[in-house]
Amino acid sequence: MGTIELNYDKIKPAVVASIEAGSIGEEIGFEVGDQLISINGVKPRDLIDYKFLIAEETLKLKILDEEGKTHKIEIEKDQDDELGLAFTEALFDGLKQCNNQCPFCFIDQQPSGKRKSLYLKDDDYRLSFLYGSYLTLTNLSEQDWVRIDQQRLTPLFVSVHATEPSLRSQLLRNPKATDLLKQLNWFSKKRIQIHAQIVVCPEINDGKALEKTINDLFSFAQGDYPVVLSAAVVPVGLTRFRPRNDGLIPVDAKCATKVINQVESMQKNFCESTGSRFAWLSDEWYLIAKKTLPALNSYEDLPQRENGVGTIRSFLKAMDEATINLPKKIFQNRTCSWVVGKLVENELLKPCLRLNKIENFTIHLYGLSSPYWGQEQIVTGLLTGQDLIKGLKGKNLGDELLLPSVMLKQGEKVFLDDMTLQELCSSLNVSIRIVYDAEDIVNGALGKA
Ligand code: SF4
Repeated sequence: MGTIELNYDKIKPAVVASIEAGSIGEEIGFEVGDQLISINGVKPRDLIDYKFLIAEETLKLKILDEEGKTHKIEIEKDQDDELGLAFTEALFDGLKQCNNQCPFCFIDQQPSGKRKSLYLKDDDYRLSFLYGSYLTLTNLSEQDWVRIDQQRLTPLFVSVHATEPSLRSQLLRNPKATDLLKQLNWFSKKRIQIHAQIVVCPEINDGKALEKTINDLFSFAQGDYPVVLSAAVVPVGLTRFRPRNDGLIPVDAKCATKVINQVESMQKNFCESTGSRFAWLSDEWYLIAKKTLPALNSYEDLPQRENGVGTIRSFLKAMDEATINLPKKIFQNRTCSWVVGKLVENELLKPCLRLNKIENFTIHLYGLSSPYWGQEQIVTGLLTGQDLIKGLKGKNLGDELLLPSVMLKQGEKVFLDDMTLQELCSSLNVSIRIVYDAEDIVNGALGKA
């Protein structure tokens, strides 16, 4: 096994964003803005290193405060004790960017001139391990592979798209993309597990190619220690900003029906042989094909919920639970509105009907398309500020508009087109409440704090 040589020059200190009340961090006097330079003489490259480094009983911390003063603190603690610190970023040595040129890349299908972060192509295995973002494995150095093994970075989330080497290389526009099966064998030897994703581009990696890809992945899903834990099949998303000659075809109802039939029949076989369906279709396929979504239990333990697989069924169940004990009436008249992507509107009508049975209360559900992206059917998270203004202007929005948090940049009140929440509020002249989950939506609808 090789060793990891650190390039210390690239590593910036970890900047403290918050300190948990009652934590060791608070006790030793950490303040927001302090920079953690090293732990026991080692500079952490990222949150993963940080977690490894603090798992010691004696810690020698080097800290730079906001006034530029360096502090050296030594502490004794139990091995498992955390310091209770959160940092402004997860990576202290910069993002590992993607070296592919997939023609279907959503980042390249945006208009130019927006905020810089929208154009960052993350293909960083550390973010995959920490947050479940998908990576392609095409930009890993020898050191990175050693690190994945040494720090046991499992499971990872891998964008596969195709297992046939030349097809994968064609899809990612990268000769380095051919090594996937070798990499899966390496994962198998090292007992590292992955969740896989296949973005289907009609007439490129569907049909026989899709069947081969899923079967190849399934061959790594056997035994006591399966390498591939699940596979998500998602349709390619195309916007009006893509080049005309990119050779890509949007998924339509006919294509979606074909893929559903194909993958459901494979699921049946997998289920018979191993007890698990193994490969799942994202919700979008059913919505595009105008077919009923599968039952919630068919998604088993929902391994790909964050990837839009079983997300709607799971959300509807949460809405059912949140609307079990609704009041028969409220005493002060209240009307509100809830905005979602057009693709999911029909699925959300039922819970709204239930809410609308409350006397003195009305909720209007607005399912919007996206002129911004040039998509009639769109998921909620892709709606932009401009879409909201175009779709909601002149509509009865009531006392308050419920706005799903997925439309905003995490931790900031800005949409994908750089419009701010404040700008939207002023333009629509309505009070807006950000809602995060089913319970929040029901409470928000009823005007509860
Ligand atoms: S790997 Fe992802 S980020 Fe990189 S080009 Fe392909 S789609 Fe875009």
